[in-house]
Amino acid sequence: MEFEYWWLLALPLFFAFGWVAKRAYIKQLLNEASAMPAAYFKGLNFLIKEQHDKALEAFDEAVQINSESLELNFALGSLFRLRGEIDRAIHLHNNLLERPQLSDVQRYAIMAELAQDYLKAGLFDRAEALFLALRASPGYHQPALRSLLDIFIRERDWVRAIETAADLEKQSGVSFRREIAQFHCELAMEAIAAAGNDAARKHLQQALAINPECVRANLMLGDMQVSAGNRPAAIEIWKRIEQQKPQSLGLAASRLLENHVALEKTGEGLALLKTWMEKYDLPSILGIIYEATLKHEGAAAAAQLARAELTRKPSLNILDRLLQAREIEVGSEARDIGLVKKTVTHFLGNTRSYCCGQCGFRARQYYWQCPGCNHWESFPPEPREQALR
Ligand SMILES: [Zn+2]
Repeated sequence: MEFEYWWLLALPLFFAFGWVAKRAYIKQLLNEASAMPAAYFKGLNFLIKEQHDKALEAFDEAVQINSESLELNFALGSLFRLRGEIDRAIHLHNNLLERPQLSDVQRYAIMAELAQDYLKAGLFDRAEALFLALRASPGYHQPALRSLLDIFIRERDWVRAIETAADLEKQSGVSFRREIAQFHCELAMEAIAAAGNDAARKHLQQALAINPECVRANLMLGDMQVSAGNRPAAIEIWKRIEQQKPQSLGLAASRLLENHVALEKTGEGLALLKTWMEKYDLPSILGIIYEATLKHEGAAAAAQLARAELTRKPSLNILDRLLQAREIEVGSEARDIGLVKKTVTHFLGNTRSYCCGQCGFRARQYYWQCPGCNHWESFPPEPREQALR
């Protein structure tokens, strides 16, 4: 294709346009800035330096000079909230709401600020009422639903949490299936506590229908079978997790083995766990197999298992177990082994933990909802061993 030479002429013209536009923009900015009270910029400056008390004074002054500006009032309200002076924020926003001739946009903006005040103050019923009203505004519809969902989860109102999450999914196109399935599991827990087993089973089946990967539902369905005295049925349900999400089999391993032992089928249970461990590389299952081997087959077999694993990959946890088995095996002559074991255990401390993929919260036990950031199923199903430095 031939080069169009007229482009060379057009280029300086484009630059000239850009320069003029930029000048006009800067001029407009300066005009707007001169309309702002100087106290506003003083406040901004303190904010940048994170001197919140001085920023508050400056914004207070700015609002007194230009009380009409909603933006300045919002800035002051946010500062009140930031400093924990929620009463003053609520008072400020309530006063703004009483202004005559507010447009719908302005009214919704004030309500959104007031709802944040109520949330921070822990006045969830008032926040809820405002967010319910805010749903009517297209600009606030989705954020209001998101906040309502957080409130319902906090209030453990799972029925409304399910409705809101379903609505949010429809509006945003983002999947909430994992969360909705978890809410059904929570409802099932409540039903079990109230001896409503049929209702519980229905909720767990709904959880699986909404999220076929919901491991928790199958764990609970199995637990319900154990409570009803039907261990073989429970085992069959837990085995389904292999088709669902094999990485989560570690969460079913100890109950699976326990029930095999109760049915006097320890060998069968151990064999199944060994298959899973090798097939899916699940270190938590190794711990369960090791404990069971030590208990049912003795120290020599447990040491052999730990040695084989340790040869495969270095791990302080497995070394700790090997030393434990060796100490039992060798008996009273094992003073040195005992000392080495004590040292390893001491330094091992809490190196094995579940770590939230969203916020990094660490926990010794598995949580379906992270206590740090409230995300659902954000913990990987296998605890991780941290390398010591
Ligand atoms: Zn978290």
